Amino acid sequence: MRMANVAGRATLMATWGDELTGHDLEAASKGVLPADPRAALERWDEVRTWAASAELGTPTSIDREQLGPPSPRPQQIVAIGLNYSDHATEAGFAVPDTLPPTFTKFVTSLAGPDEVVTLPRDGHTDWEVELVAVIGRAARHVGPDQAWSHVAGVTVGQDLSERISQMAGPAPQFSLGKSLPRFAPTGPWLVTPDELDDPDDLELGARIDGEVVQRDRTSRLIFPVAQLVAHLSEVLTLLPGDLLFTGTPAGVGMGREPARYLAPGETLVSWIEGVGEIRQTFVAG
Ligand code: ZN
Repeated sequence: MRMANVAGRATLMATWGDELTGHDLEAASKGVLPADPRAALERWDEVRTWAASAELGTPTSIDREQLGPPSPRPQQIVAIGLNYSDHATEAGFAVPDTLPPTFTKFVTSLAGPDEVVTLPRDGHTDWEVELVAVIGRAARHVGPDQAWSHVAGVTVGQDLSERISQMAGPAPQFSLGKSLPRFAPTGPWLVTPDELDDPDDLELGARIDGEVVQRDRTSRLIFPVAQLVAHLSEVLTLLPGDLLFTGTPAGVGMGREPARYLAPGETLVSWIEGVGEIRQTFVAG
């Protein structure tokens, strides 16, 4: 199942190729289920049970411009750093062996799949394609074996990162430089894990104006989704709608010789196999 946020309304996608069509959740359920995507994520078990046997009828067409973030009002956005060893090396950090570095992208950075992003003046804005897990069931003290059952689905995310503020000061601090407006684009929809042949082995990548700059597989995550959910749930309570950015593979601009950063006029497309792609264009601040 694929759930999109279409103009603020939870929508079950019927087709997602050249033509986008779907079923409005509230209308199709005759008001039994909510229109609000976050409310739908809070009642995710009911949504899944209903959708499994619903007679959905004829879908309506959707304009891609109507798509918003699949989880539009997360209470927490948790992000993981250095979760692919090649990226840890290119970034100049040790490969974590016990706990992955964890930070937040403040919720005001959240954006939909296709957005224009303003580059901060005097900044170095970098790209980081990431698999994003959307929580569908509260998680506290959840073991790795049960962890995927707390994930509603996965979506594509960009952990856009302004490197000067990220690296300034006595110790690297990740959250601020990664939380500018629209620095957390997500979408185009969430895909439930059962839709994917292996949700732990998906190709992901990014290209800038057509040039591939990142390409890897999520099977190379040092700490895969289930382990991250288990680990985080020992500390936090993960809530329905929360987002978990799982880390980026190698190929970011900071790790290049010479370093390269996003420039006004460039278009960044990020994709995950079996999920879809998101697209940002950049303007000068
Ligand atoms: Zn990241």
